[in-house]
Amino acid sequence: MKLSENAIKVLEKRYLEKNEDGNLIEDVEGMFKRVAKAIASADENYTDKAGIEKIEMEFYEMMANLEFLPNSPTLMNAGRPLGQLSACFVLPVEDTMEGIFESIKNAALIHKSGGGTGFSFSRLRPKGSAVNSTGGVASGPISFMKVFNAATEAVKQGGTRRGANMGILRVDHPDIMEFITCKKDNSEITNFNLSVGITEDFMKAVEYNLEYELIDPKTKKPVGKLNAKKVFDLIVEMAWKNGEPGIIFLDRLNRDNVTPKLGEIESTNPCGEQPLLPYEACNLGSINLYNMLNEEKDSLDFDKLAETVKKAVHFLDNVIEANKYPLAEIDKMTRGTRKIGLGVMGWADMLCALNISYNSQQAIELADKVMGFIQDNAQKASQELAEQKGAFPYYEESVFAKKGIKLRNATTTTIAPTGTLSLIAGVSSGIEPIFAISYIRNVMDNNELVEVNPVFKNAAVKGNFYSDELMKQIAKSGTVKHMEEIPKEVRDVFVTAHDVRPEWHVKMQAAFQRHTDNAVSKTVNLSHDATTDDVREVFTLAYRAQCKGVTIYRDGSRDLQVLNIGKVQ
Ligand code: UDP
Repeated sequence: MKLSENAIKVLEKRYLEKNEDGNLIEDVEGMFKRVAKAIASADENYTDKAGIEKIEMEFYEMMANLEFLPNSPTLMNAGRPLGQLSACFVLPVEDTMEGIFESIKNAALIHKSGGGTGFSFSRLRPKGSAVNSTGGVASGPISFMKVFNAATEAVKQGGTRRGANMGILRVDHPDIMEFITCKKDNSEITNFNLSVGITEDFMKAVEYNLEYELIDPKTKKPVGKLNAKKVFDLIVEMAWKNGEPGIIFLDRLNRDNVTPKLGEIESTNPCGEQPLLPYEACNLGSINLYNMLNEEKDSLDFDKLAETVKKAVHFLDNVIEANKYPLAEIDKMTRGTRKIGLGVMGWADMLCALNISYNSQQAIELADKVMGFIQDNAQKASQELAEQKGAFPYYEESVFAKKGIKLRNATTTTIAPTGTLSLIAGVSSGIEPIFAISYIRNVMDNNELVEVNPVFKNAAVKGNFYSDELMKQIAKSGTVKHMEEIPKEVRDVFVTAHDVRPEWHVKMQAAFQRHTDNAVSKTVNLSHDATTDDVREVFTLAYRAQCKGVTIYRDGSRDLQVLNIGKVQ
């Protein structure tokens, strides 16, 4: 198994099983075996012992060869007492004291197990409205969000990962202005990503520079008006300042809600890629596209990809069975719709190996082809599972019933960020461009280590221009864009997130969205000197290109930045 030193370090610290003294009692191979066994056992009612062993072996090989990896909670918890395997949850927040604190308690239970939670605060009555039982006034959604934030801070996910939350407020909620600016000071509400829930009516009002109505969620009555363009400009300005809030297009999430009879989609998970109904959970998994190339690494092996999609859908469907859900309501909803989210990682590395620039029409066309292929095959696999094991229990309530398409899973595809998975697999994350061609990593004894993108290293060795000195030189800026000593064809292909103009980021996100049931996690990177007009342009492009939401990040706009070119820890 070819894992980087960095990957092994992360796995040892947080994923591998330890005894009471904190000593490791499994290695990486042991982890994949544990996971394969736990997930294959969900087939016990459908096959015999030999059948289970065969499935176990298939699952194990797919993970050990780094062809497919399930989301982190599955790797951490499968076959262990906690047994909570999903990364994504959405919880309702009702407009009552009991409802609010019930939701905080449930979020704490989910965070403890390594899952992330999304909430819409839109049902809460606005700040200053009456509270009947006390005669006092309500403190409003933003003040309650701070309580959710403090609870998350305290839980810290049992030492495995920190709690992550998504907080959403509808653009027509009376407290929207406070929401948009509430993370102006970046030390506040640190455990939340925030997105404004945008409606089509609002976007029309922006276009025609009109006012729109603010609705009190309690009385459902209009209580004021705002100029849509002004509100949009404020979102743009705040996002320009420090990347928040993002926006999500609520009507689009609901247009693609395949079980509208079960309720409305109000929120997504923390990174935005998984819209869910209240109390629904979803488990994700990602195919490593770089490892779907042929042996020569010069063309995509579509047969292997089809095979892997089929096995991955089987795997993720089994996760729903093997999962121990933290709440009875979640158990019911999640087993009822059986949503899974199969996605990809290593997309940019794959493009580089194929000599295709990320920011090119050819890459967009390939994105349509590859994700279209994955989507078709995932649906086919889910249909085959439905024939064998039955359609998802809420099938009759779904839009598929009318069409007569029996599926095992209400949704099959999602593009996750793959923050840790891509690190384990040693490839570029999700569908993002390469972040840096090489960078300096400080290792323990104050030594500096130059990490080089392995696909670039191959190209440099092949092209006869590899040298340690050159790699060090590249690490200073992360990019090879201006390095004349590197052949132009290579520079054109090895583009980094900051070399790619924002519109290409959006085009790529939109291409993947066209073939994804759920949503796409993507950050549109902007250079430090980008203007608010650039941000507005990105938001507008994303809206026109049918994205389900968009998040931007302007380089250097936050004091604390996870990845810093030139000085990665
Ligand atoms: N997530 C979380 N805490 C974290 C990272 C991720 O709760 O520290 C959840 C969140 O819902 C996110 C999802 O996991 O949207 C998928 O994130 P990612 O693909 O980066 O996770 P990985 O499986 O690679 O760890």
